[in-house]
Amino acid sequence: MDCEVVVVGGGIGGLTVAALLAQRGMNVCLLERQPDVGGCAASFDKFGYTFEQGHGLYSSWEPDEIHPRIFAELPVEPPEVHAVDPSYVVRLPDQSEVVVGNGNEQFERNLREVFPECADSAVGFYRELNLAGTTLRQLLQQNPDLLTASKTSRTYKLLSKGKAGARILATATDPVSAYLNGLSFRFRRFVDAQLQTLAQGNSSEVPYLQAAIALSEVQQGTFAIRGGSAALAARLADSIRTSGGAVRLNAPVLRLAYDSAGNAVGVDLLSGEKVTASKAIVSNLTVWDTYGKLVGLNRTPSEIRKALQRLRGWGAYLIFLSLEDNAPDVSGSDRFLAVTDWQTDGPYDPEKHQLFYSAAPRWDQRAPAGKRAVTVHAFTEAESWFTFHSDEEELEERDQLMLEACWERLHRAMPELGGSVEVIESVNPRGYYDATRRKLGMVGSVIPTAFQFWRDQASYLTSLPNLFNISDTTSLGGLASVSRTALAFADKLAARQ
Ligand SMILES: Cc1cc2nc3c(=O)[nH]c(=O)nc-3n(C[C@H](O)[C@H](O)[C@H](O)COP(=O)(O)OP(=O)(O)OC[C@H]3O[C@@H](n4cnc5c(N)ncnc54)[C@H](O)[C@@H]3O)c2cc1C
Repeated sequence: MDCEVVVVGGGIGGLTVAALLAQRGMNVCLLERQPDVGGCAASFDKFGYTFEQGHGLYSSWEPDEIHPRIFAELPVEPPEVHAVDPSYVVRLPDQSEVVVGNGNEQFERNLREVFPECADSAVGFYRELNLAGTTLRQLLQQNPDLLTASKTSRTYKLLSKGKAGARILATATDPVSAYLNGLSFRFRRFVDAQLQTLAQGNSSEVPYLQAAIALSEVQQGTFAIRGGSAALAARLADSIRTSGGAVRLNAPVLRLAYDSAGNAVGVDLLSGEKVTASKAIVSNLTVWDTYGKLVGLNRTPSEIRKALQRLRGWGAYLIFLSLEDNAPDVSGSDRFLAVTDWQTDGPYDPEKHQLFYSAAPRWDQRAPAGKRAVTVHAFTEAESWFTFHSDEEELEERDQLMLEACWERLHRAMPELGGSVEVIESVNPRGYYDATRRKLGMVGSVIPTAFQFWRDQASYLTSLPNLFNISDTTSLGGLASVSRTALAFADKLAARQ
């Protein structure tokens, strides 16, 4: 089969690129190894329940933001979204609660009540952060490639934003922790837990500006999608087909295909078929798998190999629960970030002390009558699920221990749940690996480092001139960010018509 652009992987990144390029007139073929599209955004169906595999926290659906902007170009309607405000409630180990969202005034009042020991500084921290975050988000709306544009072009754009732009430039290589001096340990842990959830790292790891985008976004409220992120994936797949592109399911790709001169010319499928691409090959695989599986390690430059060894990601442990529909609402929110220990000694470790609880919205029935679908997420160190197990029994035991520990933590953090929840299924990094083939089942963006916020070149570029990598590991994290990378790349390859 011959096409202009071949896209390997039908996650949100691959689907978005393929949908945009197909609509812009290119001959596109997307290859997905699973019988359905979506990757990490796919839903998990069992016993009449449709569980989201994520937190159900979606940003950038306001008019002019990235998702409406992409759908404005596509020949299909976007999925139905509803604003959700507050975004979630954070419950701390002393059972105090901060409601994230509900307008700035109420949020600041809440901060003052919960952190009286550093009230003014906590409010000041958030005001500065919100200014930087809101400015950056506005700039990203106008320039989806802002984070990877050249230094000159970026500086010019930032300086047009006056004082806020100058502050962004001044804070560009700092971690969040640089701005937490004088704030209490409790406040720091409140920030750590949220950053871990939204940006995969704690306040010593996440760049201040990445935190500014993530924390200001959720404070202004988020969105829920009818049918969850799987509905977004399905619309994008429909769009590719409507525009004349091909979506081939059950089509695992083995590696890149090279010509006799060593140029990548397309991909070889596991079936033995070759698909050639005259303009571009897009990998929607993680950055590790793009090189390790598609390019081949023997063709990967040694400096990239070394960089890949240094990059780390987290694994996820998910529990899918059935909740009694008549169970009382917990603190008026469907979404909860529970922190169960302050961890006063040592760096923040999310593995044992935080959980994210997300119930499907009441207006989106994803469960049998009288029930609701709930997803609970815990972080877990991915590699340990692939080592030290001599047999399947040992692995099952590990899974059982993790489930019991999370169950105990959930009930300790949210005692109101009582007997209203029941476990339907759980997924560990092995399950993620089976479903998505992501290295070690690691999910989400890579663990960030403070110095890497600006990259000075497009993040989707690879060591091969016609191979591009669009995934959450080459974006900041979250669907909006992957979609932004996809749009920035599509704009480079084919102008909007
Ligand atoms: C627990 C959790 C909670 C999350 N919550 C949220 C949230 O609330 N809000 C939000 O915005 N984001 C959330 N995210 C992030 C978001 O879901 C992911 O970042 C995003 O879906 C990743 O998309 P991707 O384009 O990188 O591709 P992936 O989802 O990784 O998809 C890659 C695709 O490639 C396919 N593939 C792999 N190998 C091959 C091959 N050899 N040949 C063909 N196909 C192949 C896979 O089957 C898969 O379909 C969450 C993530 C996790 C893990």
